[in-house]
Amino acid sequence: MIANEDLKSRALGLLARFYGYRSFRPGQYDIIESVCSGRDALVLMPTGGGKSICYQMPALLAERGCAVVVSPLIALMQDQTQALVANGIPAAAIHSNQPESYNRQILNAAFAGRLKMLYISPERLLAEIENWSRLDISLFAIDEAHCISQWGHDFRPDYTGLARLKELRPGVPVIALTATADRLTRDDIARQLGLHQPFTYISSFDRPNISLRAYNNPGARDRVRFIAALARKYPTDSGVAYCLSRSGVDSLHKSLLAAGVRSVRYHAGMDAAARSESMKAFLDGTAQVVCATIAFGMGIDKSNIRWVVHNNLPSNIESYYQEIGRAGRDGLPAEAVLFHSVADIIARRNFAQESGRQAINMEKLERMRAYAEARVCRRRILLSYFSESTDCDCGNCDVCLEPPERFDATVATQKAISAVARTGWTNIGVFTLVNILRGADRADIRAAGYDRIKTFGAGRDMSVREWNDYIQQMIQLGVFEIAYDDGNHLRVTDFGMKILRGEAHLTLSRYSAAAANEKKKPEPARTAVDETAARGLFEHLKTVRAAIAKREGRPPYIIFSDSSLLDMAIRRPNDEFEFLSVSGVGEYKARRYGPEFLRAIAAFHQ
Ligand code: ADP
Ligand code: ZN
Repeated sequence: MIANEDLKSRALGLLARFYGYRSFRPGQYDIIESVCSGRDALVLMPTGGGKSICYQMPALLAERGCAVVVSPLIALMQDQTQALVANGIPAAAIHSNQPESYNRQILNAAFAGRLKMLYISPERLLAEIENWSRLDISLFAIDEAHCISQWGHDFRPDYTGLARLKELRPGVPVIALTATADRLTRDDIARQLGLHQPFTYISSFDRPNISLRAYNNPGARDRVRFIAALARKYPTDSGVAYCLSRSGVDSLHKSLLAAGVRSVRYHAGMDAAARSESMKAFLDGTAQVVCATIAFGMGIDKSNIRWVVHNNLPSNIESYYQEIGRAGRDGLPAEAVLFHSVADIIARRNFAQESGRQAINMEKLERMRAYAEARVCRRRILLSYFSESTDCDCGNCDVCLEPPERFDATVATQKAISAVARTGWTNIGVFTLVNILRGADRADIRAAGYDRIKTFGAGRDMSVREWNDYIQQMIQLGVFEIAYDDGNHLRVTDFGMKILRGEAHLTLSRYSAAAANEKKKPEPARTAVDETAARGLFEHLKTVRAAIAKREGRPPYIIFSDSSLLDMAIRRPNDEFEFLSVSGVGEYKARRYGPEFLRAIAAFHQ
């Protein structure tokens, strides 16, 4: 066992040499150290948070053996191994898109100790591992680990067999990584994989560089105009437009082409060749926009996706967060825009009803709907969904930027809570509550005796629409919870009790009929990517990168990410040594690409 100080300096050395980074992000080193000591780990980080290094570094640090990385998709494996090889790290993937003879060669290289990392799908790993007694395995990394859980949003039966890994190789540490897991899913992952007292790391899910907006049912033409405007606003970057259905993809794609946007399509109804052609055009920048169903994008490490538009309401917040997380992975300002409508909710409800996991899917959909219709800071809603508490508004969502008028709604809230209280605390839902407050003359109200309680009609001064809107806000702000497991009845929370007792106040956004009806024309946010002095050079370096990418037949981001190019433009290195100080430039890439970029930088300044 190596001493820890030693381990840290070796890790930092490898980080600089192979990846060109000077320091670990929060949590990365603790995870690495823990895996190196042989302990299991469970890592939750948002997309773009830096999960890969958490298992790649222990694989590099291991004196012997090969890390086996389980990954659900071939595209994802190819992307990762390509990036590793581009950094000079011996890694490869076994999968069905390449000849079996080649797969055998890779396996033999692993047996001979020539590979540091081997990527493979779960079903293939489980089919073969019993014949791998010759393979010295340094660790198992389970990427997209939420796929093992029925509670997750992307359950894959093949993943459940991974429980056997611990039985077959009890001494090998397992590190499970995911970008999306609520508490239930998280515990389920650890249990199902048989992790032994795992080191658990949960990072902040905040992606403050992504601005958040939502629009209620803009017309088809406005949607297209909006997306075209985004494409124009970021001419050298790209964007993704997610649609619910294949036909939705097809029609949006057609309209975008008609509007002069370089768009491609991607969905499961296309054949594999057409799909991979779209993917290629998108990755190398020939196409600027991809219209896609959710089949697109898992594990895409394209760093210059500047915006993600959802043309329909997603089915849950986990998926939504993962999808918008593909934007702005370079840390530069990015935009997430959601278009939603009642028709989406109906379509999603129907899916959820048919899904076989009705209750949980309906609940998840309800939370998504609340996000779309929110009148409070959207980021707070997302973060509280992932059990992260925040006490201030983000300043980078439409609600924060164009705040609705607010008023002190403490008294109205007390009326609502006491009505719930007087009907027996958990007996009624939103509909009945509004009827009681409004004093509605209805048979069901009289039959239940609710017309005789003290609060009956106490809220006549406000319309049904106002009450509906305010109660939704009260739910979002945590005054009520909805008992999904009990007829969707309202439950008063501790916070609600405080308001009832006069110990807390509540401020709500004023309902305005005009705001609800008027279809606000969506406009892309005006703040563009930082206009620094380095901008011109940055654009020039992108063309240099594009030329290299074309020559080498790889996607540009595999050469250098946008954030590396930006850092390069700011630092303007003069020689290879200075070039190494650019973020994302390791020794291998410095040697390979340094001279060409240095020449371009020098020439640009003359
Ligand atoms: P995830 O798998 O969590 O979505 P990645 O592992 O792909 O994220 O990392 C996202 C980006 O952040 C990549 O471009 C990666 O190179 C970069 N990155 C990771 N760790 C660091 C670090 N310590 N310093 C700088 N950049 C990093
Ligand atoms: Zn906000």
